[in-house]
Amino acid sequence: LSAKQPESDEQSKEITVHPETNNPTRVWDTIRYKQKVDVVTPVDPATPKPKDHVRFVCISDTHSKTDRIPDIPDGDVLIHAGDFTKICRRKEVKNFNDFLGTLPHRHKIVIAGNHELTFDQQLMTERNSHVFMSFASAFEGLKTNEWKDIRSLLTNCTYLEDSEIQVMGFRIYGSPWQPVFCDWGFNLPRGQPLLDKWNKIPEGTDILITHGPPLGHGDLASNGCRAGCVELLSTVQRRVRPKYHVFGHIHEGYGVTTDGQTTFVNAAICDVHYRPCNPPIVFDLPTPRVP
Ligand code: 5GP
Ligand code: MN
Ligand code: MN
Ligand code: MN
Repeated sequence: LSAKQPESDEQSKEITVHPETNNPTRVWDTIRYKQKVDVVTPVDPATPKPKDHVRFVCISDTHSKTDRIPDIPDGDVLIHAGDFTKICRRKEVKNFNDFLGTLPHRHKIVIAGNHELTFDQQLMTERNSHVFMSFASAFEGLKTNEWKDIRSLLTNCTYLEDSEIQVMGFRIYGSPWQPVFCDWGFNLPRGQPLLDKWNKIPEGTDILITHGPPLGHGDLASNGCRAGCVELLSTVQRRVRPKYHVFGHIHEGYGVTTDGQTTFVNAAICDVHYRPCNPPIVFDLPTPRVP
């Protein structure tokens, strides 16, 4: 009779909150020796797409600067990982939607980021919350009818919010939440509140889109701190294991890395000074066989 050894906490698919979740910089220092982070050179958009492949084009953090962003290469699926506006008033959303309308991609998938304040329904209804109050001047005169149906302005894309879509045989899941920082939209405390959101990501997800990075990949902020979420890293590495994880938020973390299993794409177009200078990131995946 062989008693099966229970899996250690670090291998188990059941993700628990890291005891030091509120200090990601220190957590990374203690786990980095057993983590692989290899830099990946992204596909040159000038290279033709290989036969029987789907081309993905990733952007993020365009912050209403779409008139000045670098050329967006053609591809099958465009992914925007949030922060498409500054404070998400109607005009900004309309402009972004018009911009999407000019792009040739067959499928366009967008999530919100912390700057999409008016997409955060809870924030907009709790008008005496301290987050809402901190934006009171920007929102002055913002009538309920300006934001109630704000999502319906995005007619040229699929908007994901803790939801998924199947596109060209790939399961793609998107979620806007990130750790609390300076009181913005879709902010949640580190630990269980964020883990509750990550627990909704289905295990068969091929491409995960979040606004914020996981710990250790594309998350090194200019102040030297790691801003990524450790429970998101655990969820990606131990439970969901997507082929790609696309995000932005930490503009200075722009670039592509891999842990050998998942490729991590920080697609922030704007740099830390909100200058739209980074090129979109392209990757190709073989078209899944339909049985
Ligand atoms: P955004 O306001 O566009 O969401 O973020 C802009 C910049 O704020 C990022 O590039 C990063 O420098 C900084 N930032 C945002 N969130 C965090 C965080 O959680 N920690 C740190 N250290 N910096 C952050
Ligand atoms: Mn941003
Ligand atoms: Mn998988
Ligand atoms: Mn952001």
